[in-house]
Amino acid sequence: MAIIEIRNLAKTYGTVKAVDDISLDIEPGEFITLLGPSGSGKTTVLRMIAGFEDPDSGTIHLNGAEITHLPPFDREVNTVFQDYALFPHMTVQDNVEYGLRTRKVPKAERAEQARQAIASVKLEHARERLPHQLSGGQRQRIALARTLVLRPKVLLLDEPLGALDRQLREEMQVELKSIQREAGITFVFVTHDQEEAMRMSDRIVIFNEGRVEQVGTPEQVYERPTTKFVAGFLGSANIVSGESAQKLFGHSKTVSIRPERIRLQPSTYTPTPDETALPVVVNEAAFIGANTVYLVDTDHGIALSISKTNTELLGQDNSFVPGDRVLAVWRNSHTVEIPA
Ligand code: ADP
Ligand code: MG
Repeated sequence: MAIIEIRNLAKTYGTVKAVDDISLDIEPGEFITLLGPSGSGKTTVLRMIAGFEDPDSGTIHLNGAEITHLPPFDREVNTVFQDYALFPHMTVQDNVEYGLRTRKVPKAERAEQARQAIASVKLEHARERLPHQLSGGQRQRIALARTLVLRPKVLLLDEPLGALDRQLREEMQVELKSIQREAGITFVFVTHDQEEAMRMSDRIVIFNEGRVEQVGTPEQVYERPTTKFVAGFLGSANIVSGESAQKLFGHSKTVSIRPERIRLQPSTYTPTPDETALPVVVNEAAFIGANTVYLVDTDHGIALSISKTNTELLGQDNSFVPGDRVLAVWRNSHTVEIPA
């Protein structure tokens, strides 16, 4: 049975449909991510699950019981917001112990549990500091530790890593994921960062303009996008439709081909029967470290983007320069039809 069941949830602010008829089942123990551009309704859904926002219509059930209009403190969910406030006059250790104290956990026990939670966010050395003696990223990690120490069944996290710099953010992604897995907590995680969502989630819910576009594992939503929006939002995609599809493939369905699935070959290359090969001219070759990105034009004037991983040893590279006439080649199975 789903731990959270959302049915036909809607919320309008003035004339803005922030959340427009969303239904979703969240399974116990899963790491589910609400992913979408800014303003697509992710925070509003999270706030309605937490009880900070009252839906106009629809229902939310937690463990089978309806909680749609219950106040936040009557719901067994905890929330970590991006701007989570710590108690300014309490040390890190005391901030993290606070929730345990209100639950009357004995002193030695709560000190030890807080120590473990602080260690899990890698701030052992800062236990005796006050919040103003910490950086923004450190404060955010303490806010996380303060919630994790309570071992909630469901944890709602709204862009909790947004304030961290890249390296720490990546460390915390791994750390959070392992805390979630070990503790068996259901995480409902909000981010607008595609890579973060792919890296951490069991399933991703893709939001666009207050609606759910697609729900699936990272692999499903990347490999089998069901809408143009999803194909373009996750990674990059060559989306071909209408007249262009007619010219390239002889049909007018919408298809997506990922840049990294296409490779360039000299024009003498003979494609196998399960490959598509199009004569193209190289327009641009951009070296960006791990990859080189080529922009090419087909003879019909259709632009394609191609990403080549730079795995070859220096000096053995088979690269192309603008003006080269070559073949863009990919497996037919990598031409993915997009239903909507
Ligand atoms: P996201 O978290 O995906 O960036 P939000 O859920 O915060 O999106 O916002 C969805 C839409 O609702 C946006 O257009 C936003 O401006 C609007 N919105 C959110 N909260 C309020 C509010 N309290 N008052 C008015 N408009 C709001
Ligand atoms: Mg938001």
